[in-house]
Amino acid sequence: MARKKIVAGNWKMNTLPAEGVELAKSVVAGRGEVCSCVNFIVCPPFTHLSQVIEAVKGSDIAVGAQNCATEAKGAYTGEIAASMIAALGCKYVILGHSERRQYYGETSETLNKKMAQAYANGLTPIYCVGESLEERKAGNHFAVCKAQIEEVVYNLTEEQFANLVIAYEPVWAIGTGETATAEQAQEIHAYIREVLAAKFGAAAAECPILYGGSCKPSNAAEIFAKEDVDGGLIGGAALKAEDFLAIGKGF
Ligand code: PEP
Repeated sequence: MARKKIVAGNWKMNTLPAEGVELAKSVVAGRGEVCSCVNFIVCPPFTHLSQVIEAVKGSDIAVGAQNCATEAKGAYTGEIAASMIAALGCKYVILGHSERRQYYGETSETLNKKMAQAYANGLTPIYCVGESLEERKAGNHFAVCKAQIEEVVYNLTEEQFANLVIAYEPVWAIGTGETATAEQAQEIHAYIREVLAAKFGAAAAECPILYGGSCKPSNAAEIFAKEDVDGGLIGGAALKAEDFLAIGKGF
């Protein structure tokens, strides 16, 4: 079975509601120019999830959130529960993004709880892994990704694993304009798949692994051509519909 091809846009803390709706509508309008084999996902800020879901209604564009709470509900001021996200009509949630690990102290312990909440509410996690520049320079990138997978993904059931997307995002390539080469991406994607196979066997061959880190129209095709790269998690370039769609044409 061919793996799903996915191009997901992480809008981060960008766009006001009206801008987000405009962006989503432009993605819908241009979607027809891209192969229907590509699954597009947009992940706007929480504040306009509803409006973006409304804007993509009737299209095959899916919507995801960028985070969810560790707990189901209760006295957790400022948090957003996975059930709330799911109730709006979101299908995905990004978890473990390096910005959340780095700036908000997310650990494997936190992420195990968030993953559990996501699955309990029917959301598909897009679980991010990736090494820092220091870790890459020290040759520790394989070990870092392995640990991030073993500490979280290994706790999933087979059924949960069948509904998981992984994003490999080298921290040194995020928002820096520096991209991993297609060879670097393939090398570590293949390694990640091996680590997954050590726990989940043949099911690892079905798990989409996305590349993220300054992916843009000019480099997407070369990266996506690699055997173990199943698409991209796109930051900056997802904020322009034209670029986001052009990345989808990289398949
Ligand atoms: C990201 O943060 O998920 C990302 C890939 O960002 P950018 O494309 O801007 O490097």
